Amino acid sequence: MLSLSYALSSSVLLPLENSDKMSDIYTKDVRTLGQCICIITGASKGFGRALAHEVVQWLKPGSILLLAARSGTLLEELKDELQGSTEEKKVLIHCITADVSTEKGVNEIVRVAKLEAANDLEHVLLINNAATLGDLSPFASFTDPDEVNSYMFLNVGSALVLTAGILKVFPRRPDLRWSVVNVSSVFAVEALPSWVLYCTAKAARKMMFGVLAEEEPNVKVLSYSPGSLDTEMQQDIKRMTGVCHHLMPCHVSAAKLLKLLLDNEFPSGAHIDFFEV
Ligand code: NAP
Repeated sequence: MLSLSYALSSSVLLPLENSDKMSDIYTKDVRTLGQCICIITGASKGFGRALAHEVVQWLKPGSILLLAARSGTLLEELKDELQGSTEEKKVLIHCITADVSTEKGVNEIVRVAKLEAANDLEHVLLINNAATLGDLSPFASFTDPDEVNSYMFLNVGSALVLTAGILKVFPRRPDLRWSVVNVSSVFAVEALPSWVLYCTAKAARKMMFGVLAEEEPNVKVLSYSPGSLDTEMQQDIKRMTGVCHHLMPCHVSAAKLLKLLLDNEFPSGAHIDFFEV
């Protein structure tokens, strides 16, 4: 006769034949992001696109995935790719064609998120990934305030306005997990000649999300530096500087970020590099 007991894991109830089968249970990966609304900016290409593929594997049925970028066609292609793995799980995927360098673009992402706010959700996950490299030129060449301001809005201000907007849509409550990811860079903490725009923006974002972590104890904030990735941004770096880095596939780094989120053991506000995980 089987003695049936149950082990309560993070979100699933698993039948056990005997307590000595406990070890079997813990060898299985039963972690999940829960019934989640996940918003990814810059999802059309590169790291954001790889993240969408990773995230979708860890969503519970009834989750919602919002994919934002300017290239609507690339987002629709991504949605088709993801649809296969989401069919059974009934994950709703929305593509949001939005330019986050504009107020209208940021508001559009918030508007679509608001439409989904009535759903039963366990987790809000916002991944601020969209960014640009900007002009790589000596410090003294940046005499045009419009160029500097527009770069800073796209790479710093838009992430603040978007995160603030999403915080308003989903008020914090004890039974709602809230996570914010800032896709950062080693250049948030390291100065590099001719990289004043990029370094300044990444350093500002690191501080900005550090402030959020201090202010909102119920929001888990992570700045993640993904390493050198094989993306269009690296092609631009090669074209502008002639420097060719050793690049890794985006999915490798995306999987590490997901591990951090699933383990959920990082202190809120931490800045963690790919090589530390
Ligand atoms: P990428 O290949 O250039 O992709 C950038 C993404 O951002 C694209 O999906 C792009 O989509 C979106 N984007 C750019 N401008 C936008 C705008 N105005 N409005 C909306 N979306 C916009 O870059 P990546 O290499 O994947 O970089 C992703 C993140 O990782 C960035 O935060 C970057 O700083 C960081 N990072 C990258 C590396 C690396 O080695 N590649 C290293 C460290 C950190 P659309 O063009 O369709 O709008």
